[in-house]
Amino acid sequence: MRKYFFVLIGLCQFLLFSCKADTVENVRVRLYAESNINEVTLSSSFGDYSVNNQKIKKQDKVKVSISNSKLLLKINEEVIGSYDTVNLVSEDLKCFFQISPSNNKARRYDNNLEITLSKDKKSLMIINVVSQDNYIAGVVQSEAGGASDNVEFFKVQAICCRNYMMRNINKHKKDGYNLCDCVNCQVYFSRANKQQVIEGAAKSTGEVIVDNNGNIIETLFHSNSGGQTMDAKDVWTNDISYLKSVVDSFSIGQPNYIWEKEIKEKEWLNYFKEKGVDIKNYNNKQELLNFSQDEGRKIKIFNIPLTQIRKDFKLKSTYFTVVPWGSNVKLKGKGYGHGVGMSQEGAAKMCEDGYEYWQVIEHYYTGVKIKNINK
Ligand SMILES: [Zn+2]
Repeated sequence: MRKYFFVLIGLCQFLLFSCKADTVENVRVRLYAESNINEVTLSSSFGDYSVNNQKIKKQDKVKVSISNSKLLLKINEEVIGSYDTVNLVSEDLKCFFQISPSNNKARRYDNNLEITLSKDKKSLMIINVVSQDNYIAGVVQSEAGGASDNVEFFKVQAICCRNYMMRNINKHKKDGYNLCDCVNCQVYFSRANKQQVIEGAAKSTGEVIVDNNGNIIETLFHSNSGGQTMDAKDVWTNDISYLKSVVDSFSIGQPNYIWEKEIKEKEWLNYFKEKGVDIKNYNNKQELLNFSQDEGRKIKIFNIPLTQIRKDFKLKSTYFTVVPWGSNVKLKGKGYGHGVGMSQEGAAKMCEDGYEYWQVIEHYYTGVKIKNINK
């Protein structure tokens, strides 16, 4: 009853828009959003399914293609009819199916599928109508399944994915679904079949991270902080209470902890000259050739933001120290990514070291709390 009450209040917009979903706990995710698909074959991988109210057997091949601006439905090459919508509906929550487009890789997903025509009627709009927990487990497996075997780590990942889902549930509302399956939203290329991932998602069900005002936070992350995370305001100018710089010893020694890059000294100095730095001045030149962050992260060299320098020289991070190196300069860098929020490698290390998922989250996001939205 309390759960139902929450859903009414918290997801009223979602409820209004997704009247097609079987229950309000489902999410509508567009599959193969980055490709043009015009023919697919569907089959049940586990459990009983029906297609447009007709029961199918496990070995049946359901083919959906486009013909005269309609969906042509065939079962085992026998024409069933022409439709505007094809619904693959499972008998219970444990069912999963396989989808094989004629021009793309086959994938497996949980629960139900809805196929309609795209607006121009030239391709298929393929939507997985899936329970929120199954969706989250699929995203965690797609994005981080290979990163660890630790259930606690997958709990952290699942909660971050849930935060993203809750914040972006109306992102594709105007197109008739909630989220898409590519990096534009969260990568969702498969159902989860790794036991630790499924367990991590199930054990954290309903849990989200909220800031000190109770708002669901944006769970920014990067690969490795280099030993200190960045304050969001030093990267994007927005001051966000939970995205502060923290000392992060857990990232030290992890796979993306250090990097090096050599740049011609002339190229390095000319870059700053073009930005208005007088490189003939001895002190300026020394500063550019010996710039150091050994004592901690900095934000600028002269007036030029390190974020700009990172972009222009395609560096792994802004956390580097410069040393003269013959006719070159060597950039000795630490970390990988923008450095804001959670270090993925640091989070994995914390979990391996025995920290619990909430300790990991509270380490990287300042002043936050875990809240269960189902309670
Ligand atoms: Zn998207």
